[in-house]
Parts: sequence; structure tokens; C-alpha cells
Amino acid sequence: MNNKINIAIDGYSSCGKSTMAKQVAKELNYIYIDTGAMYRAVALHALQQGVIKDGEVDREALVKSLDNAYISFRYNTDKQLSETYLNGQNVELEIRSLQVSSYVSQVSDVVEVRQKLVRLQQRMAESRGVVMDGRDIGTVVLPDAELKIFVTADRKVRAQRRYDELMAKGMSVTLEEVVNNLNMRDHLDSTRKTDPLRQAKDAVVLDNTNLTMEEQYAFVLNLVRKEQEKKTAELTAAAE
Ligand code: C5P
Repeated sequence: MNNKINIAIDGYSSCGKSTMAKQVAKELNYIYIDTGAMYRAVALHALQQGVIKDGEVDREALVKSLDNAYISFRYNTDKQLSETYLNGQNVELEIRSLQVSSYVSQVSDVVEVRQKLVRLQQRMAESRGVVMDGRDIGTVVLPDAELKIFVTADRKVRAQRRYDELMAKGMSVTLEEVVNNLNMRDHLDSTRKTDPLRQAKDAVVLDNTNLTMEEQYAFVLNLVRKEQEKKTAELTAAAE
């Protein structure tokens, strides 16, 4: 019996969504989809295509170049994680740069970009058994996900976590740059016209400011088990 469910995880930038989503997917043997990486890949594409001039995204030129942006994920068996590809190139490191971070919210505000990526994301989740994280997953991409989680954390704690992560990857940034970038993205992501960051009505809020990773997994896995049991009961009743 296939009691797989879809899990939607939304929240502000750098609140630990993806680390948690990855771990939950691994534990359940589900597929993890990082939708932020997809928007980042489009921002990198925009930079490569020269459609960002003087700090501004040329929306029309970006839309025209979208047909030439082929985004996919491939599983790296050595690292045991899935990596982002843009037109056949592994761009996992480039998409995390501060340059991409500083344009990604402008790029993700373009309706045609969202339409293209939302369609792709919905297709990836058709067979269920997906943990997807982003900003509009519970509200727009997977409104029928069986479990929706909205993650929050204190802004200072988020900035420090992000800074530590970038340092560990050997990137050269200051804490101030990270704080400014987070503030800007939180603002743009929650005020944009199309699909802004919002908590879905039926989402469970998880404030992880003072939680360890283990406490977060335990919280989420407990909710997952309940949903899976509910689904099994529904499937059994339907079969009888
Ligand atoms: O999750 P991450 O911080 O990597 O996302 C990068 C950016 O991509 C966000 O700041 C947001 O502008 C955009 N995004 C989005 N919708 C999503 C996921 C990410 O607009 N579902």
C-alpha cells in the first residue's frame, strides 16, 4: 500500500528549512526538492546571459531567455545529496554565492519565472513521497500537501547560521553583508505581488530558534507518522 505523502516546508531565508527537509527526506526515503536552488539557478542564468544590467533585472530579456534555461537535479552518490544543474553544468556552488543571493529575489518576482518553476515543481511531486521547501509550497505549489510546516527563527540567529554556513564553504563574506542580504530578501519575498511568502492556513508553525536539529526532526517525523497513519486508514477503508 502506498501511504506516501507530500510535505511542504516554507519559511524565511536561512531558518534551517533545507537542512531539516533534507534530513527528513533521507529518514523517510522520500525525494527532497530544494525550490530555492531552482530560483537561484534562474538568477545565475540571468547573470550568465547578461540580462542584469546596473543592478537591475531586464525582465523582458529574462523572460525571452527562459526557454534556454534547463534546470535539473542529479544525485551525487559520493556526497549522498542531490545537486543542481543548469544546462548540464553542476552549479551547486555558484548558486550559493552572494552575487546570486543579491539578485534571486528580483528574479523570483518575475511572473513567468514563477510559472515555469511552479509547473516543474508540481510535476516532480506528482507521484507523492516528496519533501519540498521554499516560500510558496504550501500555498501555491502543493496546496494539497498532507503536511505543511512553516519554519521561523529569530533573525539574528538566522544570520549567524547563514554566515557560519558560507564560511564553512570557504566563501568570503562579512556578517554585515549576510544580515543586509537576509533583510532585503525577507522584505522582497514577503511583499512581492505574485505568490509572496505566506503561512498556509493549515500549516503547523515550527519556531526553531532554541531547538536542536534532533528536536526539529523528532517534531516533524512525529507529524509525518500521524499523516501516514491517516492515509493508510483512508486507503484501507476505500479498499473495503
Ligand atoms: O531557499 P533559498 O534561500 O535558497 O531561496 C532563494 C530565493 O529564492 C528566496 O529568497 C526567494 O526569493 C526565492 N524563492 C521563491 N520561491 C520559492 C523558493 C525560493 O521565491 N519557492
